[in-house]
Amino acid sequence: MTTGRLAPTPSGYLHLGNARSFLLAWLWSRHEDGRIITRVEDIDRPRCKPELREGALKDLQWLGLDWDVGPHAGDPVGEYDQRTRTELYRRYLKQLADIGLAYRCTCTRRDIEQASSAPHGDEGAVYPGTCRDRWESFEQAEAESGIKPAWRFNFEGCQTLFSPSKTGSDPLPHTVSFHDEVLGDVSIDPSTLGDFVLWRRDDLPSYQLAVVVDDALMGVTQVLRGRDLLTSTARQLALYRALGLTAPTHWAHVPFLQDEQSRRMAKRDGDLALAHLRDSGVSPERIIGFAAWSSGLLSELKPVSAQELVGEFSLANVGTDDFVVTAEHLAWLYASE
Ligand code: GLU
Ligand code: ZN
Repeated sequence: MTTGRLAPTPSGYLHLGNARSFLLAWLWSRHEDGRIITRVEDIDRPRCKPELREGALKDLQWLGLDWDVGPHAGDPVGEYDQRTRTELYRRYLKQLADIGLAYRCTCTRRDIEQASSAPHGDEGAVYPGTCRDRWESFEQAEAESGIKPAWRFNFEGCQTLFSPSKTGSDPLPHTVSFHDEVLGDVSIDPSTLGDFVLWRRDDLPSYQLAVVVDDALMGVTQVLRGRDLLTSTARQLALYRALGLTAPTHWAHVPFLQDEQSRRMAKRDGDLALAHLRDSGVSPERIIGFAAWSSGLLSELKPVSAQELVGEFSLANVGTDDFVVTAEHLAWLYASE
C-alpha cells in the first residue's frame, strides 16, 4: 500500500494555492487506495501559532481532504506535530556528526554572501564550505566566533564516504537524479546547492532534516509538493542515503498559482486565505472545482467535491506551467450556486 502525506506549515493561513497542492496530494493517494498521513510542520516554532495549526486542520477537513493518521481539528499537539519530535531529530543529527557528515558553522548570512563567488542558487548565495574543517568542537566554535554555531550537511563528504572502496556500495553520483511524475527525469548537481543547514543557530532542526526523518519513520512512499521544493528533493535524497533511511519512491512537484502580477501565491495574499473565502460564503466545492480545473483535471470550471475526482484522477493530466488567477476566476469562486 502507498503512503502519502499532507504536511501543512502553520506559520500563516492556508490559501488557495495550498488547497490546490493538498488536493493533488490527496487525490494521488486516494486514487491508489493509499494511506494518508497529516503532519504539522511546525519546527519553526517562533512563527507557528496554535490558532494557525487549528485553522489549517479545519481548512483541510472543510475541503473534504481527510486522512488516516494524524491530528484533527480540536486534537491536542501530539506525535504528528514536529515540535514534539525535536529530540528525535537531534539523534539523527548526532548520527551524521559521528560519521563526519555534519559540521559546525558560525557564518552569518552576510559572511556567506561576501565569501560566495559562486553563482547564487535557488535560495540565495550557495554556502562555500567555509567552516567544513574549521572547528574542532561546538564549544571552540562558539568561544572563538562569539556565535552560536549551526550544523551543516557535508555534501562532499557524503560522496566520498559512499565511494565503492569504502563501503562496497554504489558511490553517490555527482548528480542526484530522480524521476518526477510531473516533470519527468530530474538531475541536480549538489555543488549548485551547497552544504545546507541541518540544525539552526537558534537550536531548532532544519526543514530538510525533519522532513527526511519523518517521511522515513512514517513510511511515506510518495511525496507531492510545490515545485519550489524540487531542489530540496536532491538534498533530501542525499540525507536518506547518509542516514541509511528508506526514501519515498515516488515524487511529484507541482506548479503554482500566481496572482496577476505573476507572483507566486503566498501567505501575504490574505484575501485568498481559505478561512477568508469560507467566511465570505465561498463553498468548498467551488474551491475544489477551481483547483482541479486550473490543474488540468477538469475540462470545465464547475463546483465539485474532492471525492468525485478520485476515480478519474491522473497525474499525467497535471501540467507543468504556473496558473494565473484572474479577477474573473475570483468572481466565479464568489458566485452563488
Ligand atoms: N510543510 C511544507 C509546506 O507547507 C511542505 C513540505 C513538504 O511537502 O516536504 O510548504
Ligand atoms: Zn560557516
